[in-house]
Amino acid sequence: MSIRSELIFFFLIISVIPLSLVVYLSYEYSKEPISDSVIANLRGATENTGNAIDNWMDARKDDIRVISQSRIVNCTEKKQLYEYLGTFENEYQGVYREFFILDMSGNITFSTLSRTGNEGKAPYFTEAAKGKMYISDVSLSKSTNSPELIITNPIKKNGTTEGILAARVSMENLYRIIESIDIGRSGKVFIVNNKGDIIFQENRSGILLTNIKDNFAVKEVTYEKNGIAEYVNNEGEKVVASYYWLPLYRWGLVVEKNIDEAYAGFLTLGRQMILISSFAVTGVVFLAIIISRRLTQPIKSLEDGALGLVEGNFKPIPVSSRNEIGKLTDIFNEMASELLEIRKKLEAKIEIANKDLEEKNRELIVANEELKKLDELKSDFISLVSHELKTPLSAVRISAEFLESQGNVDTDIKKELLQIIIRNIDRQTRLINDILDLSKIEAGKLELQLNHTDINEISKVALETIGQLALKKNITVSVNIPEELSPVMADRDKLIIVLNNLFENALKFTPAGGNIILSAKDDGDSIVVSMKDTGIGIEKEKLDKIFDKFYQVDSSSRRKIGGCGLGLSISSGIIKAHGSEIQVESEPGKGSSFSFRLKKAG
Ligand code: ADP
Repeated sequence: MSIRSELIFFFLIISVIPLSLVVYLSYEYSKEPISDSVIANLRGATENTGNAIDNWMDARKDDIRVISQSRIVNCTEKKQLYEYLGTFENEYQGVYREFFILDMSGNITFSTLSRTGNEGKAPYFTEAAKGKMYISDVSLSKSTNSPELIITNPIKKNGTTEGILAARVSMENLYRIIESIDIGRSGKVFIVNNKGDIIFQENRSGILLTNIKDNFAVKEVTYEKNGIAEYVNNEGEKVVASYYWLPLYRWGLVVEKNIDEAYAGFLTLGRQMILISSFAVTGVVFLAIIISRRLTQPIKSLEDGALGLVEGNFKPIPVSSRNEIGKLTDIFNEMASELLEIRKKLEAKIEIANKDLEEKNRELIVANEELKKLDELKSDFISLVSHELKTPLSAVRISAEFLESQGNVDTDIKKELLQIIIRNIDRQTRLINDILDLSKIEAGKLELQLNHTDINEISKVALETIGQLALKKNITVSVNIPEELSPVMADRDKLIIVLNNLFENALKFTPAGGNIILSAKDDGDSIVVSMKDTGIGIEKEKLDKIFDKFYQVDSSSRRKIGGCGLGLSISSGIIKAHGSEIQVESEPGKGSSFSFRLKKAG
């Protein structure tokens, strides 16, 4: 869960729980007054109806009392009585349907409807005959089929009951009064007698005298109880009702109200509470979103910055506040720029290292190539050496076998064969010595016996070796070395090897009739020795290679001229061991010149 969601969730919890509690408690506290007011309203409606009934009935009772005590009632003059009672009937317009008088035997002695008969068994007669006013049950009029009741009161003369005054009273007037009382839209009022029969309800004509004792309030009221109750009425409707017993008339008054309408206040209150809660929760969510955005925006910026840093495209994060997060952002920015600096340096180092590696790699490739060449050279060397070693051996063997097979060999031939043998042995010895010298030079193990060496003296030694050969080849060899030339500091024997090699090469590669000049001259603190010839010369691009082992400009010359490409390598190694170098100048067809410089002795 993100910090933002957590914050919103947190705000919701800390606000919604207390808010719900407050709303719930307010709702609960408000319920009681609403319930009280519902009950008070119902009671009020019941009381108002009861009062209206009492007032109306009191007026009727007063009328009957006044009439029964009137002098005219005792008057035997019926015409006068008609007039008197007729005024009542007119005055109350349909309230009194009939006035009639009964004697003490129950005979109707007078009726405004001119009715006769005996009502001696009717309760309204028997009860009134006991001397008290009596109000009958409500019944349907035989003539109009509308509800009515009969009020009877004794007619007394000098304290003695002489007859009963009876008034047939129409209920219509009372019913209209009851109907005009405001008891709410869904309010219903009905009156039952003590048996639970309806004597009044709004739709009164249809169900008058229907028994509804199974209605809870009706049952209660017939037990002469008063109260408030909630129940499901005969029509299956949930109602709250107030019931009230009117003992004077033996009526039960019931005011019923649809429970939903009665408690509509609850619904309104509930709706208001939900509305308030919804507004409050929306407000909290809105605030939580704003606050969480304010809090998490800098953290998000830090996260983006860190990601940018990882990807290498970091931009400094703007600092929006001076709080802890603002300080953290500052520190982060500083750290990031330091990291970027370090990264740049590292990248530069890596680039250099890469270049070095590339360089080393190139060098390795070159070294590898050289190794390959060396390997090839090694193979060449082995085949060459084998060949060079084998050739003289073959010559020796052939000569020796000839000598052995022939009993008497001519002395000259014998001498020539022996010379061949000796020459080939020398050749082999030279080759082996050359290889040994070279391996010593290459291993850096060449030991020099440095002494005062006279160039004149060693050049004479060298000449002795090649003099004969030069003569044979008709090549003039001259030496140009001053007598008084300073001695050099050198290994005499090694230097003779060098001079021999240079002489041999000059002889080998100079055609008959050519010249070889060995010269030496003083040059400051050293002596420069050079060997010049007028031979075939060497091409410029091959000059570098002639000092390599086994290198020969013309490899076929090996067979024609001899040699195996080691002479210059050995000579160069010896001169290098003396701290100098052999220089070569040459022009093809014109000749070559090899020279080196040696330090003067002392
Ligand atoms: P080699 O035994 O073949 O003489 P060197 O090492 O002494 O071997 O010489 C290498 C090669 O240098 C020779 O084979 C030849 O091609 C060339 N060379 C050396 N000296 C001369 C010279 N004086 N004139 C022409 N070519 C020469």
